[in-house]
Amino acid sequence: MSQAQDIDIEDADGVIESVSGPVVTAADLDARMNDVVYVGEEGLMGEVIEIEGNLTTIQVYEETSDVAPGEPVTNTGEPLSVDLGPGMLDSIYDGVQRPLDVLEEKMGAFLDRGVDAPGIDLEKEWEFTPEVEEGDSVEPGDVVGIVPETQSIDHKVLVPPGFEGGTVESIEEGSFTVTEPVATLSGGEEVTMRQEWPVRKARPTVEKQTPRTPLVSGQRILDGLFPIAKGGTAAIPGPFGSGKTVTQHQLAKWADADIVVYVGCGERGNEMTEVIEDFPELEDPRTGKPLMSRTCLIANTSNMPVAARESCVYTGITIAEYYRDMGYDVALMADSTSRWAEAMREISSRLEEMPGEEGYPAYLAARLSEFYERAGKFQNINGSEGSISVIGAVSPPGGDFSEPVTQNTLRIVKTFWALDADLAERRHFPAINWNESYSLYREQLDPWFKENVSEDWDDTRQWAVDVLDEEAELQEIVQLVGKDALPEDQQLTLEVARYLRESYLQQNAFHDVDSFCEPEKTYLMLTAIKTFHDEAFKALDAGVPVTEITSIEAAPRLNRMGTAENYEEFIADLKEEITEQLRDLY
Ligand code: ADP
Repeated sequence: MSQAQDIDIEDADGVIESVSGPVVTAADLDARMNDVVYVGEEGLMGEVIEIEGNLTTIQVYEETSDVAPGEPVTNTGEPLSVDLGPGMLDSIYDGVQRPLDVLEEKMGAFLDRGVDAPGIDLEKEWEFTPEVEEGDSVEPGDVVGIVPETQSIDHKVLVPPGFEGGTVESIEEGSFTVTEPVATLSGGEEVTMRQEWPVRKARPTVEKQTPRTPLVSGQRILDGLFPIAKGGTAAIPGPFGSGKTVTQHQLAKWADADIVVYVGCGERGNEMTEVIEDFPELEDPRTGKPLMSRTCLIANTSNMPVAARESCVYTGITIAEYYRDMGYDVALMADSTSRWAEAMREISSRLEEMPGEEGYPAYLAARLSEFYERAGKFQNINGSEGSISVIGAVSPPGGDFSEPVTQNTLRIVKTFWALDADLAERRHFPAINWNESYSLYREQLDPWFKENVSEDWDDTRQWAVDVLDEEAELQEIVQLVGKDALPEDQQLTLEVARYLRESYLQQNAFHDVDSFCEPEKTYLMLTAIKTFHDEAFKALDAGVPVTEITSIEAAPRLNRMGTAENYEEFIADLKEEITEQLRDLY
């Protein structure tokens, strides 16, 4: 956070009237909506959320248990903002962008109150290399220089939006802190590596474009059946134990985004501790460098105050927008948006607002859509293109997708990956239900897959979808009469569908090879199962009994494609053998 100035309590211009959990009401405070204020003797950080006559309502980002009426409130006059600059990658923040390691140093493992810390290190020096020269003309958004932020990412130093711009009067290579000017413009404006931005306001762009490139995840069921675009939106509703965390980790590790912003929003404390402990250990499998060198973590556990949970998604998306402005493809994962919605519900009830469905505020839908609206593929104000893909986990109580957060999210996002507790129980992983999931990006991404993978990418996928749909219908009959009562062609369809499920849809996140499946392999695996299908039906037409067809020796090897090291050769050989063995039957 950028409001780290020491405010003298004597300057207080308001007085606390009442305290209700994270919500404090003050009288006589001269404030505007969304101003950041310091509350009580301890100076706890809060934000103005309602003004009525002489009374101002404030949501406080820290525990308010010792705050009492009569204590002072000071207004900073600034909206809730984040500090943007080098050093955000490889950082772990709380919901108001206080670096957790700095907080811990200041107050030990138990987070104290009234402690402020800037979001980026103000003392650290960075090596700055200019990209423009004296005399060049620059506008807001233009890149004036580059700073190697981490092993993986070059940080581009931008003329902040809102600057006039002009001719570069001076610019120099060298070591600078984020507050020292690296360039001076003709109108006297000084460009530093640090920008502030109010979190509730989207950073400006030229236009939102239709995304046409997939965010390749290396997960077969996602890339193959339910792809998300770079700049797209997706929801993963995950009942407990269904693999929400593993899926989000897989995406953070493998998705071909330049930058990952991971917002852990009020999940159970121990789960976030896992993320905080796990992530710094993880390696970026593409580069071998630490995953954190392209990741920013925002961690708000449920034992942190509820209002900080409300703000953490805004902090995350603002950081994502800043890297997008540099022309990067950013993936933001929010885990879980349900906890965020619950924070809204709690604050709303403290304000005694008229509750909507299941006690959530009436503006739940609007807040969710404002948040997802900040995702997209954009043309930036400096002419570059960047994207933010947003993947929100939802934790519907009891796995019931009809509850308001899931339903409102579904109206907004274009990709839906439905995690399924039954599949998880049967150890079918990833436990994404292929009958319930969907992606509205399929058609607009097909040209990319056709050009980069195979001309018949879409036809092959459609074939698999049809077989799986048919299986779902047949299963209902099987439940009633048993599999053997089905005609032979339908029994064969069930066998093909079984291979689709076991060899294609299942993917072991913990297997060295299977963990990541490139689109070429995803495609080839389908063609192998289709070869089995086509040749098996030819054999059936020629009068071969289904039991003979399904017992050919090569078929079970379809289930080893995922873990095959040299997949091209493995799959080519397998297709040949399947064809030979089936043709030998007639
Ligand atoms: P949730 O976060 O939804 O409670 P987890 O992500 O922790 O669930 O998953 C629960 C367990 O399921 C994991 O510990 C793991 O054993 C298994 N699992 C989930 N997804 C996969 C996967 N893709 N591959 C292998 N195992 C998985």
